[in-house]
Amino acid sequence: MLGFDLYRPRTLQEALKLLAEFKGSARVLAGGTDLLISLRAREREDVKNIIDITSLRVLDFIQEDDSRLRLGPLTAHAQIADSPHIRQGAGLLAAAAAAIGSPQIRNRGTIGGNVVNAAVCADTVPPLVALGASVKLERMEECRWLPLEEFITGPNRTRLEADEMLTEIAFAKLTATAGWGFTRLARREAMAIARMNVAVVLERDSRGRVVTARIAPGAVLASPARIPQAENILLGQCPDEALIHQAGQAVATAMTASGSRWSTPYKEPAIIALTERAIKQALEVEWR
Ligand SMILES: Cc1cc2nc3c(=O)[nH]c(=O)nc-3n(C[C@H](O)[C@H](O)[C@H](O)COP(=O)(O)OP(=O)(O)OC[C@H]3O[C@@H](n4cnc5c(N)ncnc54)[C@H](O)[C@@H]3O)c2cc1C
Repeated sequence: MLGFDLYRPRTLQEALKLLAEFKGSARVLAGGTDLLISLRAREREDVKNIIDITSLRVLDFIQEDDSRLRLGPLTAHAQIADSPHIRQGAGLLAAAAAAIGSPQIRNRGTIGGNVVNAAVCADTVPPLVALGASVKLERMEECRWLPLEEFITGPNRTRLEADEMLTEIAFAKLTATAGWGFTRLARREAMAIARMNVAVVLERDSRGRVVTARIAPGAVLASPARIPQAENILLGQCPDEALIHQAGQAVATAMTASGSRWSTPYKEPAIIALTERAIKQALEVEWR
């Protein structure tokens, strides 16, 4: 039988105090769609205390100012997918959130849980990397910000300390002229974890030349990162089929350079196609 003590703090301060008290033996419970599964599978025998933060409404927000979007970690995927602010200022994140699991999982699962769980296939992570997101980590009387790429250090590994909580995710809004793409490959359209995914942001000048390129694949490298080799192929160019293919190949090369597995021969053409499609989506912005 599973055994743990459950706490339901009424304030963020209370939650942080509990984390400080319990150190490594406590975990935060948000939607529970990852945590409860791993507890049931007995992958977290060290966890003796669960801190349920679902009633901390102060962590559930989508805020927009002139240039930035700020999300509370308790924001559910369904809220992100439906938010006019996110759809306008970070469409690729809304598209990724809409692709997660099923309506039940999207209503329950949170962006904070997706980021802290740090699965290589996490759907919100590549869009957040492409958006240049940073995360706010708080402990009693202290807080720090880290770029998301520094926060996630490997599969299911982050720089979160035992007494810290993720309390905000923030990034600059996309400009009105920026194009974006998000593609994913899974066994089915719904209720299937992504095998790979790709997020792309492109900005072009009035002559159609790419002036900003951000390409962030998921489940391709051990930890999330943009692929500058692919981005540089597009920068300063008016991308055609050949260049788009080269950019896809550059992502595949970065993947194989990071290590080869039994699935690599299958993944190579798949990641090229996913990248090409995401770039083409990003180039179609005017016609959306
Ligand atoms: C059937 C099914 C389908 C799924 N499909 C997808 C999918 O298509 N794409 C995808 O990306 N994921 C998918 N998932 C995984 C999961 O739903 C997501 O990762 C979800 O976003 C996790 O959020 P949560 O709120 O449920 O996290 P929880 O399970 O509550 O927490 C996950 C981890 O994060 C920690 N944590 C949560 N919030 C905080 C915080 N604020 N501060 C510090 N630590 C925190 C917890 O302690 C735990 O270690 C699926 C899961 C299931 C069960």
